[in-house]
Amino acid sequence: AKVLVTGASGFVAVWVTRTLLEKGFSVVVTVRSDSKGEYLKNLYKDHGDKFSYVIVDDIEKEGAFDEFVKDVDAVEHTASPFHLRADDPQELIGPAVNGTVGVLKSIKAHGKKVKRVVITSSIAAIISDKLPPYTYTETDWNNVSEGIVKEQGKKASAVHKYRASKTLAERAAWKFIAENPGLGWDLVTVNPPFIYGPPIHDIPSFNALNTSIASFYAALLNKDAPFSNDKLAAPNGNWVDVRDVAFVHAEALLKEDAGGERFAACAGTCTWQDFLDALNEVGVEGIPKGIPGAGKAAVDIPLSGEKAVRVLGIKYKTMSECAKDTVEAIRSRGW
Ligand code: NDP
Repeated sequence: AKVLVTGASGFVAVWVTRTLLEKGFSVVVTVRSDSKGEYLKNLYKDHGDKFSYVIVDDIEKEGAFDEFVKDVDAVEHTASPFHLRADDPQELIGPAVNGTVGVLKSIKAHGKKVKRVVITSSIAAIISDKLPPYTYTETDWNNVSEGIVKEQGKKASAVHKYRASKTLAERAAWKFIAENPGLGWDLVTVNPPFIYGPPIHDIPSFNALNTSIASFYAALLNKDAPFSNDKLAAPNGNWVDVRDVAFVHAEALLKEDAGGERFAACAGTCTWQDFLDALNEVGVEGIPKGIPGAGKAAVDIPLSGEKAVRVLGIKYKTMSECAKDTVEAIRSRGW
């Protein structure tokens, strides 16, 4: 079977593509430039002509994906801006929503062979303003960020601008499905929390590091501005390994029962101190100690990753494995 992966130059999509190739799929990906495509061609050279790339430089353009959905059996749409420096919220919301709806429209019109579409959503479309003790699940929706962004516009926090973009994009996708009965395909969304793990995508410079790995570096590896012990032990949300997120994207295509479902691929809550402890436990050198165990007292709101275990058979990587491989991959680039 052949799969189209959008936004394949990104941290997550590089692993999604690799996992699909390893499971025997043929994969055609969209990137915004030839240089990004050539990097991937080299990365996946062992898979020969089972891998190819096409250029979609503007995912918001009407019909941008029309040509490329024609002979694929499934689509994994991951392209969406993930950064926290947008001034105008529309910078994020535009590509997130129009990119998502654009892919779905192209598939409806031209994807005659498509059976399933998987969209990379986020915990951003799930978490709202609940307080502990509460556990978020796939039944929860972020019903706060959109209102905050509408009310505050550019003054809204960077986090709410991003969360609004992901919430609006995912809502638009499910609305498209509800309004178009009789499609020959169904939808799955993957809703991960912060994703860590080894970056293997093209990162031209340190400043181009993707958002989640940049935060990992800032908290754990930046000797010039080390985090205080308080900051290390503070609640830091939920986490998951990028290879597990990729596994979920692949199994979402393979398991019939996944159709029509959201999956929160999530390994658990974390503090940065927990990551330090996990790294020191497995003997990674040059890692600060902080106050070992101090992260255990943090009270956070978990996102349950149990449904993906039950339906997709994921076995989440341990924090030590994730953190060690992340550090080694970052250091291998000389940072
Ligand atoms: P990256 O920044 O590494 O990748 C983002 C990808 O989207 C890149 O391929 C990028 O292309 C593409 N993209 C961004 N904006 C546009 C645009 N306007 N037009 C076309 N393509 C665009 O981020 P991640 O890999 O971390 O994110 C991938 C997906 O995972 C996103 O949907 C994100 O919301 C989601 N996610 C990520 C989490 C994380 O912690 N990393 C957590 C939860 C969800 P280019 O390389 O050309 O810029």
